[in-house]
Amino acid sequence: MEKKDYKINIIGAGLSGLTAAKVLENHGYYPEVYEASDAVGGRIRTDHVKGHNLDRGFQVLLSEYPKAKQYLDLKKLNLKSLKPGAVIFSKNKKRKIGDPLRDSSLLIPSLFSGIGTLGDKWKILKLNLELKKLSPEEIFGEKETTTMEFLKKKGFSEDIIRNFFRPFFSGIFLEPDLRTSSRMFRFVFKMFGEGEAVIPAGGMGEISNQLAKSLQHTKIHLNTPVEQVTDSKLILKDGSEIKTHFSIIASEASSLVSNLRNQQTEWKSCHCFYFTSKTSEIDGRIIGLIAEDSALINNIFYHSSLEESEVEEHLISVTIVKETELEIKQLEFRIRKELQEYCDIKVEELLKHYEIKKALPDINSLQYEIMPTETRLNNRIFLAGDQLLNGSQNAAILSGERAALGLIETLEGGAITAEITSEYR
Ligand SMILES: Cc1cc2nc3c(=O)[nH]c(=O)nc-3n(C[C@H](O)[C@H](O)[C@H](O)COP(=O)(O)OP(=O)(O)OC[C@H]3O[C@@H](n4cnc5c(N)ncnc54)[C@H](O)[C@@H]3O)c2cc1C
Repeated sequence: MEKKDYKINIIGAGLSGLTAAKVLENHGYYPEVYEASDAVGGRIRTDHVKGHNLDRGFQVLLSEYPKAKQYLDLKKLNLKSLKPGAVIFSKNKKRKIGDPLRDSSLLIPSLFSGIGTLGDKWKILKLNLELKKLSPEEIFGEKETTTMEFLKKKGFSEDIIRNFFRPFFSGIFLEPDLRTSSRMFRFVFKMFGEGEAVIPAGGMGEISNQLAKSLQHTKIHLNTPVEQVTDSKLILKDGSEIKTHFSIIASEASSLVSNLRNQQTEWKSCHCFYFTSKTSEIDGRIIGLIAEDSALINNIFYHSSLEESEVEEHLISVTIVKETELEIKQLEFRIRKELQEYCDIKVEELLKHYEIKKALPDINSLQYEIMPTETRLNNRIFLAGDQLLNGSQNAAILSGERAALGLIETLEGGAITAEITSEYR
């Protein structure tokens, strides 16, 4: 049986599914991808509304992610770098803090921001140096605690935790209490320290589109939700059945495979609102954080700052990571009020609101690595997706790669090939 005759089906066209397809293609296979929604990308998609690029939730790519460097052509993504720091809004105050070693324009504002002590700045520097010497694998092999515990144990002041670490990392972990594992904190801190936070000029969706466009022998079926996966077939939502030799489930597997029914993933959610605005209250490509316990807003970002030339109308995203019972209309009202009160920002039209119920997997013991064989549910079904490891693009890509390699290893190992060949006749 030739490699291209194997029926290898991938469920989900997010980063993990697309990477799995890429790796299978690289090894001579012709996979097919079944995607429930109307486009590729999963959580990394960009909508185009009234001339603006709206990512489905504010997110950035960290240019030092090892797997992004391996599988993406970063040069072709027309990446725009964010300044390594943040503008912190708290009652009546707007202060800038950042890494002056990498952006000298942040030296003076950081020194005079009044956020944190000299000791804090020294500890940040020391942590940077410490993490430079460790690989991601080593970091994820460390004993873990919560990020908040870790910061306190390291002796960071109450002030820098409240005004910088908590708002900044809440926006990354999508939870307000920094209960996320210290492993993730240290990994992300390392990535920030060694590279840049970037966004493609055309929006984050360009990342998924680039991966999808690089596929030569993969058929992608959009608008095709899968209902069930068995060893020999996919059952689609419309009742039709697709014969399969191997499947990679690059989405939540618990609803698709009968013996995984009670192993559901817990998810962290968030809201993201996009507004237009006549002016920009933040100079340059830098994230804005609201460091107020009573505020619902976690962060804001002017996406119009990604443009190279002057814009007629600004685009601002507003992200909420705290749980809220408010109805959307009430939430919008509250956000407008908070923007005015804490940031002196008046926004105009609400272009779009996204409520992302499954934004990041809420996992207790985070991992960096998974061996190809560990992605194997059985000889025919393999698993991928960030929920296997940690909520990041790096983990999604890595998991897709490993699932494909696990499948190839099983297939080329021999025993299964003979079994399938006889079935195929
Ligand atoms: C708001 C937000 C902010 C984030 N910020 C960052 C960040 O700054 N940095 C970072 O590294 N990561 C960030 N992430 C996480 C990152 O986006 C994810 O880790 C990554 O995109 C996950 O890719 P995936 O392939 O594992 O899953 P997904 O992207 O979820 O892909 C799964 C795909 O499977 C499809 N699917 C599901 N069920 C079925 C079915 N039954 N049949 C067919 N198809 C199905 C879905 O439609 C989807 O397309 C963020 C995520 C969000 C939502």
